[in-house]
Amino acid sequence: MEHQEARQLMDALASFFPGIEEVGSYVAGRIVVGKGDTIQLYDPATGKESVSYRDGGAEVAEQACEAARQAQKTWWGMTHAARGRIMFAVGAQIRQHLEPLGRLEAISSGKPLRDAVREAELVAEMFEFYAGWADKFHGNVIPVPTTHLNYTRREPYGTILHVTPWNIPILSFGWQVAPTIAVGNAAVAKPSELTPFSSLAVAALAERAGVPVGLINVLAGYGHTMAQAAIAHQAIGKVVFVGSQGTGIRIAEAAARRTIPCILELGGKSANIVFDDADLVQAAAGAQAAVFSGAGQSCTAGSRLLVHRSVYAQLTEMVAEGARKLRVGHPLEQGTEIGPISNRNQYEHIKRMIAKGIAEGATLAAGSTRFEDGGYYVRPALFTGVNNEMDIARIEVFGPVISAIPFDSEEEAVAIANDSEFGLAGAVWTRDVGRAHRVASRVDAGTFWINGYRAIHVGSPFGGYKNSGYGRTSGIEVLYEYTQAKSVWVQTAATPSIQVGRA
Ligand code: NAD
Repeated sequence: MEHQEARQLMDALASFFPGIEEVGSYVAGRIVVGKGDTIQLYDPATGKESVSYRDGGAEVAEQACEAARQAQKTWWGMTHAARGRIMFAVGAQIRQHLEPLGRLEAISSGKPLRDAVREAELVAEMFEFYAGWADKFHGNVIPVPTTHLNYTRREPYGTILHVTPWNIPILSFGWQVAPTIAVGNAAVAKPSELTPFSSLAVAALAERAGVPVGLINVLAGYGHTMAQAAIAHQAIGKVVFVGSQGTGIRIAEAAARRTIPCILELGGKSANIVFDDADLVQAAAGAQAAVFSGAGQSCTAGSRLLVHRSVYAQLTEMVAEGARKLRVGHPLEQGTEIGPISNRNQYEHIKRMIAKGIAEGATLAAGSTRFEDGGYYVRPALFTGVNNEMDIARIEVFGPVISAIPFDSEEEAVAIANDSEFGLAGAVWTRDVGRAHRVASRVDAGTFWINGYRAIHVGSPFGGYKNSGYGRTSGIEVLYEYTQAKSVWVQTAATPSIQVGRA
């Protein structure tokens, strides 16, 4: 703990866990330090060693599942309205801690402070949104053709396990956990081993707001140890995974072995389509926001910019010029628009993809191939002269890199957009209303924007088509995903005749 980087992070964590000396999982209301392999973290802003901690392993994961199982009984025993009131209080607790939450997130993930504070605010909103649903989500009465009253109840799975990545740690935590508990489940969250901090903090705040101890647990450690042990535990009734496709397959296999369902939210290579009749100033700003926000570490990034050939040179120059002006800097510095990449592995992957784009014959119209030591900084980059067969148009970069591809017709634009293994998101920029809706209906994607990019809200369903995954983790849809329907039959006839083979 002698490094300044480690001290800074532990101080930020101490705002939520006074006196904390070692990082661990949050289980049944306390920090439990692991005994497994040491996980060494590095400060994305300096590249220097930061905090290290021990993997919690199977033992801690199992304790968390057990704690969740117990707490869920208490939670489900409350009235729906009481659960809603507590969830509103969670939102209020988070609102009182936006600054320290944002700081903890910025230091640990490299996200600019301004963005991190905003994301903490969105998490408060998520708890409030689903608090409102707690006593408004119910079953139905089915008009069956017999003498029965038949109705459905929506019942929780028990405990839901959430395995999430490092790019939007606090946002993922709120997105996953708020609807989970709103319908009576407990939650075990396994954030990335690189960024467990803000999840630990929000779990502690939730308990301060009145959520039963043990209802929300956070596993600090590896996926192959902790997440796998949790999936194997009887308390877990469903698994929700956000991350890469390879890991998603491993998670789905493990869930299948226990015959429990899962939801997968995987990667993307989304097409952002600009027609020649679009407002090019807006489209250029939108194209930058679609990729450069969060330094491109976003699953919905509009990383393939499809531009009509007649405006291709003009629009790509506008985007390149905008990219050159963006301020890349330390996450805690005021005015920073783009922070460092969150971790070294990802940083190296982005550097390799930029080199690959050049080797494939694309032109680096903005960005740089010079990378300095100290901190994982990447200048926002734009490749022109890209075709959809190149690796930079097919492989997810997950960094601030746009690949601009020209097209000649609407037909061709849709064909290129759909020529991808992924189907997470997409957008179209045009003043032609008919075309906007035609393209929106023809592109294979779970989320689509018209004359915009990035708008997203828990009230609206989110999820992927094709290899971007299956299931929905927000909107009303998620309340169905996180509950199971029970059909209850009540005999109402005065003299019912019960016969084998008849209802
Ligand atoms: P990753 O798949 O490496 O890790 C995600 C999580 O899985 C982590 O918590 C990790 O510890 C855990 N994990 C790793 N190996 C495991 C195993 N064998 N068993 C169980 N769990 C395991 O992904 P990443 O590198 O952290 O994140 C980047 C990826 O996430 C990108 O592909 C990105 O597109 C995707 N992503 C998708 C969405 C979405 O909503 N569709 C959102 C954000 C990120």
